[in-house]
Amino acid sequence: MDARSERASRLPSTCADLNVSFEFFPPKTPAMEAKLWQSIERLAPLAPAFVSVTYGAGGSTRERTHATVTRILRETALHPAAHLTCVGATREDVDAIVRGYGEEGVRHIVALRGDPVEGAGCAYTPHPGGYANSAELVAGIRDLGDFEISVAAYPEKHPDSPSPAADIEMLKRKVDAGADRAITQFFFDNDGFEDYLERVRAAGIAIPIVPGIVPVHDFNRIARFAGNCGASMPDWLAHRFEGLADDPATRQLVAAAVAAEQVLDLVDRGITDFHFYTMNRADLVYAICHLLGMRPVKPAPRPQEAAA
Ligand code: FAD
Repeated sequence: MDARSERASRLPSTCADLNVSFEFFPPKTPAMEAKLWQSIERLAPLAPAFVSVTYGAGGSTRERTHATVTRILRETALHPAAHLTCVGATREDVDAIVRGYGEEGVRHIVALRGDPVEGAGCAYTPHPGGYANSAELVAGIRDLGDFEISVAAYPEKHPDSPSPAADIEMLKRKVDAGADRAITQFFFDNDGFEDYLERVRAAGIAIPIVPGIVPVHDFNRIARFAGNCGASMPDWLAHRFEGLADDPATRQLVAAAVAAEQVLDLVDRGITDFHFYTMNRADLVYAICHLLGMRPVKPAPRPQEAAA
């Protein structure tokens, strides 16, 4: 059997063996909103475990995140997860948002500390009377109701963390506070991720650690994000995109190949759950899921159709 046949035989035989989730950001303009909904409609038939909607830096998209999450809940059969940060808000403010989601039927929160209002890389100062970090936020959400709670994890450690071990200790605090799942910052070094996973398990953390996968639609943009969040951009990756600045069609093909290669290699290592940073674009993520063996399923009826 050649290597590709062998790999194909190891792929999960049905979509039911894979769990994928998709992350979107709340749109700013009607045009961006239309693009987001086209992407959601394209990806929804892949039956993701959940779709999440980010919360803008410093809480800047509070209303737009809420509007997007509740529209997904109302108009699709998807399970939305609302990102929420502690930045610039009192505990009462944050708790009111959580309670509101609970009342509306949103059952999943991605609980984050967030970056300082001045930007990633600046010293973080908790809001007086606010949650100091994500472990405190997780505990607060647990007290407010029966939510599924996801948190962030950092295979290459968070830039604020003094050491990789301290970073895993912080993840342990989030788990002890009640987190159900961790989603990682994006990375390109699968060996590094596997090593991280071993250290996480050795620390007694048993929750799913779901790799966050970012398709490199725009190398310079991803490199900027990486610089802010402490993720490394390997030389081989830069080399793959070299000379393609003015060639978007080839860039797309290369981006799809790079992401597929990463995801299929993770499957070889036994990973079955993936979280895709979609950047509100369906094309590459859809193709990667197809390569994983996922095929569209007939969507479940929307809540209002089921009730009719
Ligand atoms: P925490 O886990 O609270 O802390 C981050 C790190 O700081 C820890 O890992 C630890 O190393 C160190 N640290 C903090 N407090 C302590 C302490 N008391 N003692 C020791 N070490 C400590 N940002 C947004 O604004 N909106 C979003 O929607 C959003 N979504 C994200 C989704 C994912 C999957 C990921 C990975 C990140 C996301 N972020 C988002 C970015 C995130 O807010 C930043 O990375 C932020 O700087 C840290 O948030 P956190 O929840 O990881 O923080």
